[in-house]
Amino acid sequence: MSKQTISRRSLIASTIAGGAAMAASPLMAHEVDNVKWDETFDVVIIGSGFAGLAAAIEAHNAGAKAVVLEKMTAFGGNSIINGGILTATGCPQQKMHKIEDSVDLLEKDILVAGQYLNDKAKVRLLAEHALSNYEWCVKTLGVEFLPDAIGQEGGHSVPRYVTTKNGSGSGIVTKQIEMVKKLGVPMRNRVYVEHIIRDKKGAVVGVQVREGYRFGKADSGKVKYIRAKKGVVACYGGFSADVKFRMFQDPKLSADLDTTNQPGATSELWRETSAIGCLQVQNDWIQCGPWGNPHEKGMGIGWQFNQTAAAEYGIWVNTDGNRFVNELANRKVRADAIMLEQQQGRKAWAIAQGKNVEPLKKQRPGFLERMLKDKIVFEYKTLEDLAKGTGIPYAQLKKTVDEFNECVKNKKDPVWGRYINNDQTPMVEGPWYAGECQPKVHHCMGGLVTNNDCQVLDVMTYEPIPGLYAAGEATGCVHGAVRLGSVAILDCLVFGRIAGEKAAKAKENAA
Ligand SMILES: Cc1cc2nc3c(=O)[nH]c(=O)nc-3n(C[C@H](O)[C@H](O)[C@H](O)COP(=O)(O)OP(=O)(O)OC[C@H]3O[C@@H](n4cnc5c(N)ncnc54)[C@H](O)[C@@H]3O)c2cc1C
Repeated sequence: MSKQTISRRSLIASTIAGGAAMAASPLMAHEVDNVKWDETFDVVIIGSGFAGLAAAIEAHNAGAKAVVLEKMTAFGGNSIINGGILTATGCPQQKMHKIEDSVDLLEKDILVAGQYLNDKAKVRLLAEHALSNYEWCVKTLGVEFLPDAIGQEGGHSVPRYVTTKNGSGSGIVTKQIEMVKKLGVPMRNRVYVEHIIRDKKGAVVGVQVREGYRFGKADSGKVKYIRAKKGVVACYGGFSADVKFRMFQDPKLSADLDTTNQPGATSELWRETSAIGCLQVQNDWIQCGPWGNPHEKGMGIGWQFNQTAAAEYGIWVNTDGNRFVNELANRKVRADAIMLEQQQGRKAWAIAQGKNVEPLKKQRPGFLERMLKDKIVFEYKTLEDLAKGTGIPYAQLKKTVDEFNECVKNKKDPVWGRYINNDQTPMVEGPWYAGECQPKVHHCMGGLVTNNDCQVLDVMTYEPIPGLYAAGEATGCVHGAVRLGSVAILDCLVFGRIAGEKAAKAKENAA
């Protein structure tokens, strides 16, 4: 028996009135009456990835009693398995490599890739925080980045990402977790947030959870009610691993496509926030990572060859031996181009030679050897051998390589407009390497609409819902149509921190 009465109101039809100002949304699916709370905190944070942990740190620093709730056994969500590359415009590594960059250029790149579906003010804020966020990671959290490596993901005009020393988002998340623990903020795993509770005035006042939850068993765990006196911060991440839900948004993303995401990247709270009247946008903008490799599951390690060696220094060609896309175009352009090749019966190959793999070897010692051993990437003595091994006609491949070498010589790629790296050398000597490219479902660009204080807006009134904040992949508007690689960490940390602080400073609710 429930300790409270939660009524499901169905006033939708009678009250939808074109979004004019109203006191509260009619869509308060979990409205509260005489809740008997099991526990009370100032701030309840849902999700233990970059965004949730950043929120926890700042909520505590602003004086709030906070708690982090995580449904999975392991903390860290997608963040802890992430590739650890972070946009850091203005960082010392860029200066070391004499790369000219600016806040304005970063802002422009994000907007152009986002096809201007982005919230411009948020993009500006992100770009302005790129350097201070990097410094927060280094100085406050103690994150170690490779001191001399700078990389470039597709859609960025210049190399501007730094990489964690261990080559993973865990290099940041473990430091966040250390900090959260040091501050004494409780982190609870296997606590599934089933409902977000709005009171009669529309304010979010707490959550209904299942403690001791087992992932995949919806009715497992013990139901409890946790009050949030000041705010709930929703940092529940994306839904790329949820085939059914993602196919409602984009029917092309069937189970045939692998995902890079952890299994818990599912949609329950996307549907819950929709049911309680939160404004959401662009949920069908779901990104596939073009650099995935079909011969391993999930993100794996093959992407590091396809991107860091071949896209940045080598070339991508189809089975006919032709380049078919700017290897440094944004992810959507590249994933769409590969899918088009596949629809026409051609594979996409990432190709690099000896010098091209040096940055990868330096950044990730031992990775190339692992890829070769696991047959994710193949090594050949000559270009002719590579052509034989991959089934690409040699004459055309040689012509394509020669043409690319002209681009390198002239530091200009007239056909595809590809950025040519300062330290790019022509592709001449062996050994030669080839890896296949396979797009995998990777990132949800859409989500909750928030204002600059990270307050979630009500779908009927467009006003902030008192007591509900959000950050990270659960939110929309920042990236627009296409998220640029290495910008998600920046987004999650910057807005996670703002959300935590603002929630901590909010007025107490009356629940
Ligand atoms: C393999 C991979 C590599 C990536 N590499 C990079 C990179 O190098 N650079 C970059 O910028 N971006 C990268 N990204 C994107 C980036 O990692 C994500 O966008 C980011 O981690 C999202 O962080 P988050 O805090 O919003 O969500 P997450 O880290 O996904 O955390 C959300 C958490 O909420 C939990 N949760 C969900 N629902 C509930 C519920 N009902 N109750 C309780 N808990 C719940 C989830 O289990 C999860 O642990 C990568 C993504 C993947 C998948």
